[in-house]
Amino acid sequence: MADVHTKEVRSYNMSQIRSKNTKPELIVRKYLFAKGFRYRLHTKDLPGKPDIVLPKYKTVIFVHGCFWHGHEGCKYFVVPKTKTEWWLNKIARNKQLDNDHINKLRADKWNVITLFECKLKRANIDSTLKTLIKKLNKILTK
Ligand SMILES: [Zn+2]
Repeated sequence: MADVHTKEVRSYNMSQIRSKNTKPELIVRKYLFAKGFRYRLHTKDLPGKPDIVLPKYKTVIFVHGCFWHGHEGCKYFVVPKTKTEWWLNKIARNKQLDNDHINKLRADKWNVITLFECKLKRANIDSTLKTLIKKLNKILTK
């Protein structure tokens, strides 16, 4: 049984690394906080457990890894050469879930913003964050 436990722990750790408190998400949080935005994190009662929830703005933000969420046309979305079909199915399913979550949230009048990690890399981050703030300010004045 020791093996099973180890495997479970490992896969738990991997899912944590993959889905929570990833670096790009931290960057966005710190930036928003510095700009005076207040938020909640990983709200479990919302579809897809959005990474950042801004109740005042009725807005949720997902910070998505380009690989796991199949960012189309992105250089970081490279399908592995082994088990290719399995990966494609897995990523297609992730994308389907993402869409389901977004549709449910929108039906409930949430604004949904998705940020892909590639847009949070050094070359793009300034413009991405500025655009994000603009979007949020627009929402509030609507
Ligand atoms: Zn990308």
